[in-house]
Amino acid sequence: MSNLPNQEASGKATAATAAPDRVTPDRFTPPARLADNPTVRRIYELKRELNAVILAHNYVLPEVQEIGDFLGDSLGLARQAAQTDADVIVFAGVTFMGETAKILSPEKQVLMPTLDARCPMAEMVRAPQVLALKKKYPAAAVVSYVNTLAEVKAISDVCCTSANGIQVVNSVEADEIIFIPDRSLGEYVQRHTRKKLHFAAGYCPTHHRVFADDILRLKREHPHAAVLVHPECTGEVIDVADRVGSTAQIARFVEEMKESFDTFVIGTEVGMLHRLQRDHPELTFILPGPLVVCPAMKRNTLRRVVDCMEKCAPEITIPEDIRQLALGAVERMLAVT
Ligand code: SF4
Repeated sequence: MSNLPNQEASGKATAATAAPDRVTPDRFTPPARLADNPTVRRIYELKRELNAVILAHNYVLPEVQEIGDFLGDSLGLARQAAQTDADVIVFAGVTFMGETAKILSPEKQVLMPTLDARCPMAEMVRAPQVLALKKKYPAAAVVSYVNTLAEVKAISDVCCTSANGIQVVNSVEADEIIFIPDRSLGEYVQRHTRKKLHFAAGYCPTHHRVFADDILRLKREHPHAAVLVHPECTGEVIDVADRVGSTAQIARFVEEMKESFDTFVIGTEVGMLHRLQRDHPELTFILPGPLVVCPAMKRNTLRRVVDCMEKCAPEITIPEDIRQLALGAVERMLAVT
């Protein structure tokens, strides 16, 4: 019991959640600007035939973002997966996101454009390492970032995302937390909680290609720019940022700050710039270097989207005992935020 979320504490927390964008007003009609593309037209035919919804993460290719019914961060898309009345979920993201959708909606078919879209961070900390940490810190609760495999969620007390990590950690009754897998996110959360966090060695190779030196150079070149970064970046990058948040929170920061700034340095994956530029064509967005690209996310192509819908494969499956256990951790997170 001591490891379950403390609802009173969670009520005082301030981390924001953000609903994913609804991209297409009508799920079965392609956006006018894409209506001439035969692949897109076929995707929309298949959506109707399958009663499918397409969930797209902010980091996928621009053309795939455009055909998403919902575009957002992992928390917003997890909520959408739980709420949709579609029979089929097509998840354009990485496999742990498809797994989370399946955990929440076992009666739905969850398709992914490719099962090769695997987040390297999620593979860095597997169940045996978590069990070893639990043995080392028996009084600690396990808070796992959603960037984990279902087998790890199944042995976690509660999940969190980059949008709600502080809020979730502060909601747990235990004073010690095993925070996995992302050490950078954990160290960021540690700055905002009195609880003692224990870490594993996971990290995001993409966000670790954002460098503080590049941010400082851009600040010199654009002295009136605001710097918004993702908490998967290193502590040195977070130290020189104006705001830190998930992709949905970064989108919200731009809304809040656009009257005061016309240029934003965006310390997260390049896919985020497409959405920001689309929503704010009058503003300038700068990526701190050409390397902030997630290869796994870019494996979701339009051709693979249509292929998976034609074949109804590949499909996400999870053993029911693992799914049930993982569901508890995901639901406890959703109850907090
Ligand atoms: S950006 Fe990083 S954490 Fe996100 S899916 Fe890619 S490798 Fe994983």
